[in-house]
Amino acid sequence: MARSLTYITASQLIAIARNPRVAIVDVRDEERSYDAHIAGSLHYASDTFGERMPDLLQAVKGKDTLVFHCALSKVRGPSCAHMFLDYLTEVKEDAGINKVMVLERGFNGWHASGRPVCRCTNAPCTSDST
Ligand SMILES: [Zn+2]
Repeated sequence: MARSLTYITASQLIAIARNPRVAIVDVRDEERSYDAHIAGSLHYASDTFGERMPDLLQAVKGKDTLVFHCALSKVRGPSCAHMFLDYLTEVKEDAGINKVMVLERGFNGWHASGRPVCRCTNAPCTSDST
């Protein structure tokens, strides 16, 4: 299980977001509560990400692709994705996750290019992706 971090663009994500085996993981911090979010995304804030990785692993059971993002996917998104990759290796659990990706340009890029966003206050968001 050679996993490495890859990047995905907003239009590539749109094409796969409805796949039930794809999970979108938002690692923004408090800004998720006043900005919108990608429909159906999970929220694991970067400031508590390390301690919540076991919860995330439970939450993504049955998924094979995880797409991480923060606001710009420059720092928090890739670093949480790396941390989670290391964690997967460490727990040696075959979670069935074979792709860990980062959304290029993050939520801001997604929003700026007119992709659909959700403004619900549910946690986790239960809206359909797209
Ligand atoms: Zn929502």
